[in-house]
Amino acid sequence: MPRTAYVNGRYLPHRQAAVHIEDRGYQFADGVYEVVPVYQGTLVDEELHLDRLERSLGELRIALPMARRALKLVAAEIMRRNGLTNGFVYMQVTRGVAPRDHKFPRKPVRPAVVMTVRQTRPLAPEVLEQGIKIVTLPDIRWQRRDIKSTSLLPNCLAKQQAYEAGAFEAWLVEPDGLVTEGASTNAWIVTKDGKLVTRSASNSILNGITRISLLKVAAAEGVEFEERAFTVEEALEAREAFITASSIYVLPVTEIDGRPVGNGHPGMLSRKLREAYIERVARTGTFRAEAAA
Ligand code: PLP
Repeated sequence: MPRTAYVNGRYLPHRQAAVHIEDRGYQFADGVYEVVPVYQGTLVDEELHLDRLERSLGELRIALPMARRALKLVAAEIMRRNGLTNGFVYMQVTRGVAPRDHKFPRKPVRPAVVMTVRQTRPLAPEVLEQGIKIVTLPDIRWQRRDIKSTSLLPNCLAKQQAYEAGAFEAWLVEPDGLVTEGASTNAWIVTKDGKLVTRSASNSILNGITRISLLKVAAAEGVEFEERAFTVEEALEAREAFITASSIYVLPVTEIDGRPVGNGHPGMLSRKLREAYIERVARTGTFRAEAAA
């Protein structure tokens, strides 16, 4: 099936889909995005992703390009046209096209909307069996990491450095030694006494939708958790560690900077939470807080 993309009101063959050279997203990364996972033909946590999209747009003073209902219709249509079953819908909204000038355009311009989909294969079983490696790097990003901005250059550099070091992800660390999050994931540990810890939502991290949903899953499973920052040393002394994101759900971490986490194998709680998370996604299509209660 040929791939189709949505660009500013039109469905186009993926290879021909393009935006204008003076799109402010292209010139200034003046835009935001969402990656909404699709599990067995259903969008996961669609409302939460659209809430975050609206919030990110609001923080940048970009108008919502169309009503939420219309965004949902486009997402459903792009999934249908691509026959998407498992993977994700990528949504991007930029301020639009205007002569290059750092200031916002004086005359209102129409925000530019792009949607694409990607079919993904399940993670290789050995990734789940062995867990993943992390390297730690200084967090060199701006102070508004809560906005899901398309300005991802520091994240790309960190991810590339992790890849070159044979690691799956980089954990980004502030000068005070506290981990903020991964280059494209949220960071978690399980302390020696079995408490789940992840950094609280603030301007320092992107409040992951998987993070939000997994906290609800943890509550429903009776797992005690604490939202606070932790250091790399604390992670190395922890019983378990894992990462979360829409594209990978929950992935156990077994090595940080070449040193083992816990016993060097994926932890029990990480596994249990991954299963519980997937089970709820499968059962409810979209994860709902009420379903966890
Ligand atoms: N943190 C960063 C920096 C990210 O880029 C992402 C996802 O892209 C996440 C966390 C996880 O967010 P979500 O669970 O919404 O995918």
